[in-house]
Amino acid sequence: MAGHLKRQPWLVRTHHRLRAVSFALLFVATALHQADQDLPATVLIPAFLLLLVYPQLQFWRASRSTDPIQTELRSLLLDSFLLGAFMAALAFPLWLSFSAALGTLTNNAANKGWRGARHALAALGCGALLEMAFGGFHFSPKTGLPATAFCMLGLTGYLLAMNHIGFSRNAQLRRAKKNLQLREQELLAANNSLQQHLHEIHSLQEQLREQAVRDPLTNLYNRRYLDSTLERELSRCKRDGQALSLMMIDVDHFKNFNDHYGHLAGDEALKSVARGLQASAKRASDLAARYGGEEFTWVLADTDGATAQRLAEDFRAAIAALQIAHEHSLQGRLTVSIGIATLSNTAYQTVAALTRAADAALYRAKHGGRNQVRLAPIVPRRSGLGNRIPANFVPLVWHQAHECGDPTIDAQHQQLFGDANDILYAMLAAKPREAVAALFAKLISDATEHFEDEEDILIGTGFAGAALHMAIHRELAEHADYLLGRYTALEIDGTELFQFLAHDLVARHMLGADRAFFNHIQQTSSVAA
Ligand code: GH3
Ligand code: MG
Ligand code: MG
Repeated sequence: MAGHLKRQPWLVRTHHRLRAVSFALLFVATALHQADQDLPATVLIPAFLLLLVYPQLQFWRASRSTDPIQTELRSLLLDSFLLGAFMAALAFPLWLSFSAALGTLTNNAANKGWRGARHALAALGCGALLEMAFGGFHFSPKTGLPATAFCMLGLTGYLLAMNHIGFSRNAQLRRAKKNLQLREQELLAANNSLQQHLHEIHSLQEQLREQAVRDPLTNLYNRRYLDSTLERELSRCKRDGQALSLMMIDVDHFKNFNDHYGHLAGDEALKSVARGLQASAKRASDLAARYGGEEFTWVLADTDGATAQRLAEDFRAAIAALQIAHEHSLQGRLTVSIGIATLSNTAYQTVAALTRAADAALYRAKHGGRNQVRLAPIVPRRSGLGNRIPANFVPLVWHQAHECGDPTIDAQHQQLFGDANDILYAMLAAKPREAVAALFAKLISDATEHFEDEEDILIGTGFAGAALHMAIHRELAEHADYLLGRYTALEIDGTELFQFLAHDLVARHMLGADRAFFNHIQQTSSVAA
């Protein structure tokens, strides 16, 4: 039973105790009154049922209810009703009636306020009236001393108990409130520290994101970031019909600088160049990055070649004006060389082509004496020639005068003449596009192989202009690849590609630029002989 009691809400448990004890006291008072007033003993039967059995039934009912508290509060009115009827049955003995009425009224008032007290009074009246309706009105208020004294004591105890319950309930509520306030403060403090931690995590994430795209020495963007951004930027500019310029910047004679002044001074010099670059690349769309080692990249969206050249010139001059001493350079101070390539709707349409062209221009800047800016050639758009065969659409004829004296180079030059003529005949015979494309590809592949062999020979024989010649080769090969791509994509017809390959690459380059080393080769072979 105790375990069962414990599981019930506080109000149900307290009321059960209060009712059981107060009703039992009333039973004792009734027994004393019966004995004192010589009432028939049968009076004790309803007293037993109401005052000893009913409270247990009431508790049993409340504990089985789905809402024990509501059931208990409703049963307070039933108490009043039954007590009213019982007192009427006993003919309203003064002290018993007074104790019972006061007890049930205060209990209702304590739980439901004045409204409860009024309802309890009405219930008392109804109980008494109902009893009188069946049993008739009897009024005998006299109460003997034992019952009176017992009622007084019982009532005093009951009121004290009620006050004690009220007091301890209040104290309990105050403690709970204080506890709640403490918890609330703890919760607020925990929330504050959580916010602080979240803030720290966010700023750490931000730092990590920055570190992942920055070069630690110069704090410029790193190569990874450049690679991921340039592709996007180039596509955007192509889509919007804007130009885009790419600068490759290389510090001159930097190996010597390191060797002479030490790596730490070298690092400081790189930081100065980076700071200068950062100061020059100040538009929001500018992208300044460390490409690697002592090489930097400056990407200028929506910037044509002429503007890029002017900006590059300013930057070059600004670095020279830093007057960083460099004994082992011609100028006696640290300088940079810059190569620029500009995206246009005819040239350098991919990141690779743009970078190669800027690299080749840089190479020429180095070769031209360093501390200077060079621009990659802007390949002019050739007008569509349609089906017209242009004047220089004639077979190339090999002459002995075309020979430089090196058997490999001469054989390859002759082979390339043959390749060009094969294309001409195929085009004149209106061969299918695929067949012509295969011949174009063969010419480009033979030319590439020839360039490599020729470069080996030029370097091997110590030709002074080898580097420049190699840069020209690179440009020719790149443009040939680019035009072949456009031809394959049906963007240009064969005449334009043929013009470039047969005229610019084979005839003009081999009979023009290559002349530069003919004397050198002939001298070397006569010395060898
Ligand atoms: P050029 O004028 O032809 O460019 O000659 P260079 O000596 O500058 O070119 P090279 O490529 O031979 O040498 C580049 C040097 O840059 C070699 C390397 O020691 C140095 N370098 C690359 N990265 C760093 C760096 O982070 N700090 C320092 N101090 N030196 C670096
Ligand atoms: Mg370099
Ligand atoms: Mg360098």
